[in-house]
Amino acid sequence: MTQLQSFLLTCTVAHVMLLFALATPDAAYPPPYGLDQSWTTTTTASASSADDLIPVRREVYGGGRIIDISHRYHSEMPSWESDDGLGHFLWLAKTMKNGSLSNNSEMKLPAHTGTHVDAPGHVYDHYFDAGFDVDTLDLDVLNAIPILSSSSSCAYPSGYGDGLGDCVGVGDSCLSPMSRQVHENGEIFDITHKFTPHTPVGDSTEGIGQFLTLLTSMKNGSDYNFSEMKLPVHSGTHVDAPGHMYDNYYDEGYDVDSLDLRVLNGPALLVDVPRDKNITAEVMKSLHIPKGVRRVLFRTLNTDRGLMYKKAFDTSYVGFMKDGAQWLVNNTDIKLVGIDYLSVAAFNDLIPSHLVFLEGKEIILVEGLKLDDVQPGIYSVHCLPLRLVGAEGSPIRCILMK
Ligand SMILES: [Zn+2]
Ligand SMILES: [Zn+2]
Repeated sequence: MTQLQSFLLTCTVAHVMLLFALATPDAAYPPPYGLDQSWTTTTTASASSADDLIPVRREVYGGGRIIDISHRYHSEMPSWESDDGLGHFLWLAKTMKNGSLSNNSEMKLPAHTGTHVDAPGHVYDHYFDAGFDVDTLDLDVLNAIPILSSSSSCAYPSGYGDGLGDCVGVGDSCLSPMSRQVHENGEIFDITHKFTPHTPVGDSTEGIGQFLTLLTSMKNGSDYNFSEMKLPVHSGTHVDAPGHMYDNYYDEGYDVDSLDLRVLNGPALLVDVPRDKNITAEVMKSLHIPKGVRRVLFRTLNTDRGLMYKKAFDTSYVGFMKDGAQWLVNNTDIKLVGIDYLSVAAFNDLIPSHLVFLEGKEIILVEGLKLDDVQPGIYSVHCLPLRLVGAEGSPIRCILMK
């Protein structure tokens, strides 16, 4: 286990899907596919007809522009060597029904459940010991690159930009895994933090701790290595669903599986915000984000301070104040709000800001992004949460493509 450095939950994997060109804007919770008049719907927070409280679970978006080919996680789904399926994999560690101000789930899953990926360490123990874990898998292989190169790269190329694939074999030179943040000369930027025992989580000074357990080990005679993970769903880089802070939405099933992949994938603006304050209405105004921009990643002082690299939760982070959130809702077309610490909301306005963002069920909040070393500007963002049925949050894998 000690060699299992920087094991990363590869949502990319659990969420393999086909992405096509994204152009048409839409709301985070449109009516079922086929009824695409929702593209023109712009509001709203006040709408709350009975129909409005039925979450939509989609497999196909925009007439086939996006096809989700990942399975949902649910208790009846098959699980390796189990007669009873996956069973109870999700529970509410904090519930609004007991007076908590938010719903906060934890998840426990064998790493090879449902739609998942195998890393070389699964069946080769020397690769396992050398650290060939899922965090070393090449995102260029896992994600379609628009321009296909004739010299195809292998899963473990020897260096950045070297797409010659000379590591296809198993020579010694392949025994130092690479954990890449930038792929193919900047074509792909990984903006997801690794999960390690020190990954921060709200209310903890020690981080998430030992989140990964090796259930069967080749060192004990098993034919393969097989891990299980246990995580609070709001740790590390993750997404919030409306049920996080609205208990009626939670009960109605507005979980992470109902989030719209069209909002989570598409053109996005990465902006730097003033470093000396929280994101207020005044700050939002000063950013002059044009109408029509639907996805914005806000880089703040949190990145400069490296807060996501510190295991102790730090309440002095910056984020949205309620008036900043309200200004965004009232004056922009933004439906995806990304931020670089564990909460989009400043600690002093933790609940009110979330309530403003989540009330309309249109805005998706991605928290804990790794925005260091990426230039401000326009990218294509690709964010894929795990399909955890019933969860009000999920680890999420986000990448930017240039
Ligand atoms: Zn969260
Ligand atoms: Zn949040």
